Order: sequence, then structure tokens, then C-alpha cells
Amino acid sequence: MPFGHDMVHSLATAVDLVNTSPSTGGEDRLDSLDRLGEFVDRWQISGVGELGAADLGQVRALREAFHKVFTAPDQATAVIRLNTLLSETRITPRLTEHDGHSLHVHYFAPGASLGEHLAADLGVALAHLLVEGEWERLRTCSAPDCERVFVDESRNRSRVYCDSRTCGNRMHVAAYRARRRA
Ligand SMILES: [Zn+2]
Ligand SMILES: [Zn+2]
Repeated sequence: MPFGHDMVHSLATAVDLVNTSPSTGGEDRLDSLDRLGEFVDRWQISGVGELGAADLGQVRALREAFHKVFTAPDQATAVIRLNTLLSETRITPRLTEHDGHSLHVHYFAPGASLGEHLAADLGVALAHLLVEGEWERLRTCSAPDCERVFVDESRNRSRVYCDSRTCGNRMHVAAYRARRRA
């Protein structure tokens, strides 16, 4: 995919955010301020102040909104859902250099809460993906008991599992056993 490092990082952050939700088949991995803090550290989200219960509620609501974009049945629906999310978000593009990262653009408005920050930066990254005609790369895992989302970055858009080591491996073993039984 011809996407820069920022874009790849933002998409990976969006994927991880959505996959903390029990909507993707696992446990809720964003159910406390501690876990919200871990998420911020994991993705090195800059300029985040003291976090409170309102932040947790906002980010938890946002992950469901992004989940609906990932699981849209077609591109037109994904566009409508993403536009709704963006229309509720203050966005202020700003060139910046910080923490050793080269010049890049931040989209969140000055003084934005963590939820607004993520809605702006991750929302814009997803918008670029849609503009590039890459909507199909937003996928849900094909393993029967897994609903995790991922961005298929393979050249021929052939990836079907959220993780080749876990779900991919598990499904290959199951297929092998089924063949042996046959
Ligand atoms: Zn930055
Ligand atoms: Zn999976």
C-alpha cells in the first residue's frame, strides 16, 4: 500500500482500538482508566493530559463508531458512517515535529480531549484509505469464532485472518485435521 508511516500507524491504532471491544468477540480490553492509559502508551499518543471517566466513556463510544466503519457492508455505507463521525469532530490540520518524529500533520484541534484526538487523527487516516479506493482492505477475521478487524496490507488483498500466527495457524491446523479424517 502506498501509505506513509503516519497513515500505517494511525490505521494500526484504529484496529487495536476497535479490537479492544467485546463487539469483536473477545473480552472488553478497555474497561478501566488503567487500560486506557496503557492504550495511550502503546500507541505513543502525544499531548494527552490527565485522563478521567469522561475520556474513557468517549473513547469507548468512539471504538464502536469505528467498528461500524470497519464492518460496513459496502463502501457507500462506510462513507456515510465515517462522515457522521467526522462531522462530530473538530479538525485542525497542523504541521508538527516532536519526540524525534519527522515533520507530519496532526489533525486534532488544540486542547482536544483524547476522544476528539483519536476521532480526528484516526478518522482522517480512514478517510484517506477510502479516497484511495482501498475500502476493501478494512476486514473482519474469517475464523468462525473471531470477529476482530484488521487492515489487509497484502499486495493482492488476500489476507483473511486477523493474525496469521493465531487465527491463521488455528484454521490451518483445523483444515489439516479435517483432511486427515476424510
Ligand atoms: Zn505526532
Ligand atoms: Zn481472528
